[in-house]
Amino acid sequence: MSNDVDIAIIGGGVVGLSIAYELATRTDLSIALFDKEGPGNGTSGRSAGVICRHDQGPIYQRLSLVGHARMRRFAADHGFRFSTWGSLSIIREPDVFPPTSDVPPELAAAPSGMYVSELLGRDELLERFPWVAPDGVLGGVFEPNVGFINPYELIDLYRRLLAELPTVSVDYGNPVLELRTDGGRVTEVATRRGLWRAGTVINASGAWANKVSALAGTSVHITPQRMNVVLATGYDDAVGEVPLHGAPEMQWEGDGVWCRGEIGGAVLFGQHRDKTRPEKPTADPDFFDKLPDAGFAPSLAPQLERYYRLPRSRVLDGWTCVYDTSDDGFPILGRDARVTNLVHAVGMNGHGMTIHAGVARCIAALVVDGSSSIDISDVLPSERELDFAILRPGRFDEGEALRLRGESGGHGAAAEQEVGGGA
Ligand SMILES: Cc1cc2nc3c(=O)[nH]c(=O)nc-3n(C[C@H](O)[C@H](O)[C@H](O)COP(=O)(O)OP(=O)(O)OC[C@H]3O[C@@H](n4cnc5c(N)ncnc54)[C@H](O)[C@@H]3O)c2cc1C
Repeated sequence: MSNDVDIAIIGGGVVGLSIAYELATRTDLSIALFDKEGPGNGTSGRSAGVICRHDQGPIYQRLSLVGHARMRRFAADHGFRFSTWGSLSIIREPDVFPPTSDVPPELAAAPSGMYVSELLGRDELLERFPWVAPDGVLGGVFEPNVGFINPYELIDLYRRLLAELPTVSVDYGNPVLELRTDGGRVTEVATRRGLWRAGTVINASGAWANKVSALAGTSVHITPQRMNVVLATGYDDAVGEVPLHGAPEMQWEGDGVWCRGEIGGAVLFGQHRDKTRPEKPTADPDFFDKLPDAGFAPSLAPQLERYYRLPRSRVLDGWTCVYDTSDDGFPILGRDARVTNLVHAVGMNGHGMTIHAGVARCIAALVVDGSSSIDISDVLPSERELDFAILRPGRFDEGEALRLRGESGGHGAAAEQEVGGGA
């Protein structure tokens, strides 16, 4: 007894859902999506949901543009809440104000307005954002069109949109337990509720990427690593809207710390890691400590004292979750090198909310057209297409791992810098 389907998707986080949406709105392919837990129970539900620009290189920038455009469209078409509270770079002495813009002209002109920015002088910045401690502040750069979403609302919206499409079934609480292979192909997908035969199997299991790959006798270069989030009770200081920002020296165990306001007036502080740090522990996404490290909140105290005016706010424990970091910090998108009908869409490295729609466009191009490039002229009219072949899973074993912008060494750097496609 088995069910036949064109595409089986493993994972119902934002990546799996958006791939199902992309495929179902573009094609008549039959799609079955499985998630072992409930909606949002993976990394997606614990995300900060920031949709912002990325400076790690051209391919991230372009995938982010697609994601930003999707959030704007969902806001316009479905009343989806995209809270554009902006992003703020606070310039302090001894830095120079105004800073030189690092935004390439083609991105600055992108129609979504993702890269629009305005300079704020010292007085304007301090008046607008009274939670900023004034010492040494020279001014700031504010990007008004970026913001954050509630991941649960996004998952809910995708589920409602998919429920209207006759070719898709979305099954939560239904784990994929076995991937039966024959001749280098997955032939059957064994789940709690039935056996499925699928032409293509998509691994969108995030931090579970290796557990799922192992079911098919293969592996990907993903290492789940745990991240901390705490929050300040900014409502005690009536902070209002706090845009995404960072503060100097704010870090935890060598990772950066971001900060953004939350609906209702709290202020979130979270750890971010650009890529796998081999010297740090590997987390098991099924068994990890959900409470932040005891030292995380106290480590932020000196910076909170120095750079913030939050006299009444207290810092409280938030939560933790695992990133599916890859060895080089870039997503892993493409066909498995050993199992030919297994396609990976993993390794979001802490950017899955922002880039998920771009990732889905890539996977649809691969599965439907056999192509490793996507049309991005809707979000970047100066460029026709984005070649994402450099993100293929086999790059690590081929010695073609990428490097993030600003990193020295590493193979494949030149290729990454050339990404952007021809006009
Ligand atoms: C603290 C934190 C803050 C973040 N903040 C941001 C942010 O501000 N902006 C941003 O862009 N990104 C952010 N991220 C990253 C972003 O949340 C992730 O990149 C994104 O959620 C990954 O989505 P996903 O669908 O790949 O994974 P998940 O949401 O984890 O989905 C994978 C799913 O696969 C399912 N699964 C696993 N194994 C099986 C199986 N055998 N059978 C069936 N189902 C299975 C799991 O149950 C899970 O639901 C943050 C992440 C963390 C941890």
